Amino acid sequence: MNPCVHCGEAKTGLSTTKCDGCGGVIHHACVGLSESDTVKVKTRAKSRAIKVVCPKCNINLTQCAGLKDLMQTMIDTLKTEFLNAIEQLKTQFEQKLNESLSNKSNIPDDLDSETIIDELADRQSRAGNIIIYNLPESGNGASSQNDDLDGVKTILQILDR
Ligand SMILES: [Zn+2]
Ligand SMILES: [Zn+2]
Repeated sequence: MNPCVHCGEAKTGLSTTKCDGCGGVIHHACVGLSESDTVKVKTRAKSRAIKVVCPKCNINLTQCAGLKDLMQTMIDTLKTEFLNAIEQLKTQFEQKLNESLSNKSNIPDDLDSETIIDELADRQSRAGNIIIYNLPESGNGASSQNDDLDGVKTILQILDR
């Protein structure tokens, strides 16, 4: 029989159990288990609520629990910082939005809808112009349109040769 992980002795005739952490043998007496505890320990295969750990593993468990608490604190802190950052961004965004909304009244008066429509109409009329390299863009009126026509004809004749 393997020696007890606690006292290091392989005494017989004592109630023993296996450590749920390292699987080592433990004397019930060595970990302070009473006779009534012994019964519970014997039935623990049926219940996950009961765990027996040797003193060595118990230290590790305590350290693990401490580590778990530390990590939980870190996670909570990060979460709080993250939520604060989101809240700040939200506030900044709302401020900018409100600023830009209130600045709408500051748009210069000369840029009224008529000016915009004129500009659009001008662009639309010029969109139909043929733009040829070295040929000045046409102005308005019938005579300049004829000039354009002559210019294009001349260029096409040159290309045909
Ligand atoms: Zn022992
Ligand atoms: Zn153990």
